[in-house]
Amino acid sequence: MKKHNFSAGPSILSDYTIKNSASAVLDFAGTGLSILEVSHRGKEFVAVCEETRALVKELLDVPAGYEVILLGGGASLQFCMAPFNLLKKKAAYLDTGTWAANAIKEAKFFGEVDVVASSKDSNYSFIPKDYVVPSDADYFHFTSNNTIFGTEMRYDPNVNVRLVSDMSSDIFSRPIDIAKYDLIYAGAQKNLAPAGVTLVIVRVDALGKAGRPIPTMLDYSTHVKKESMFNTPPVFPIFAALQTLQWYKEQGGVAVLEKRNVEKASILYDEIDRNKLFKGTVAVEDRSIMNVCFVMNDEYRELEADFATFAAAAGMSGIKGHRSVGGFRASIYNAMPKSSVEALIETMKQFEKQH
Ligand SMILES: *Cc1c(COP(=O)(O)O)cnc(C)c1O
Repeated sequence: MKKHNFSAGPSILSDYTIKNSASAVLDFAGTGLSILEVSHRGKEFVAVCEETRALVKELLDVPAGYEVILLGGGASLQFCMAPFNLLKKKAAYLDTGTWAANAIKEAKFFGEVDVVASSKDSNYSFIPKDYVVPSDADYFHFTSNNTIFGTEMRYDPNVNVRLVSDMSSDIFSRPIDIAKYDLIYAGAQKNLAPAGVTLVIVRVDALGKAGRPIPTMLDYSTHVKKESMFNTPPVFPIFAALQTLQWYKEQGGVAVLEKRNVEKASILYDEIDRNKLFKGTVAVEDRSIMNVCFVMNDEYRELEADFATFAAAAGMSGIKGHRSVGGFRASIYNAMPKSSVEALIETMKQFEKQH
């Protein structure tokens, strides 16, 4: 049985991505070689890399003055690279979850970190809104989508300083006003590709001003200058990323994806709110359209393991909640078809009927 893949990450990719990647493993671009064994400097792969960066720019409407780079090391390395390159004296951070807190921890190696607000005391169940970003901060860092807790900032915050954002789990889920940002980064394994490549969009003029020596490999300028070919890039994940981007374009671009994502999320949240067995875990206005977290209602708490078994038998994969929230988490990224969300809703309805 084909499973409905609700995994939080690595996670579902489009059939187009999977099929083209599988075929390139056997024969890449008619070279008679596998994508797994070609030189990253060969003209076929250089073309893949260029098209990938160009399509990111096209899909996200990236203005002039920005570059797209493809790196290794995951989003977690960006927690360090971002302040290494951009933090001169002080940066402002919003603490909205585990990943945000990890970013804060790394930034403290490089200067003063002003945590402008935190929802940690309520287990990150909402996005703080009454905060002031000091105008002398070098940038304001936020996590646009809190993958673990299921909250999301589906807007580009209006503050007095430049924005830096970890968009690992919601990039390409909505249009972004890139001009407000100095840096956006995203590990690929939620909305783009298999694990191994990290997408970075950087304003070139923001670089070279941190006033500290930066090791070559950790300096964004190196990768901008070398067009992501300073060292061997993650060849296969980049190939897969290109397939996903092509599929996004074919679907009509990020505005179309956003509309679908909102629709998928709203039918699932409607069912969570309607079904007597379940309840959501976060403030309604901050609900993520990518990661939908829910738990059993208090009086049905003992049914949690039964629902997990029931859902697994119905082909639902990866819906166990993260240990810091418990219950369930349905990750419904761009590639997730509405039919899979409907299948989950049907499973929830059937389970309710039994109780
Ligand atoms: C998954 C995730 C990360 C961690 O990414 P790695 O590539 O494993 O380092 C960071 N931030 C967010 C928002 C995530 O969802």
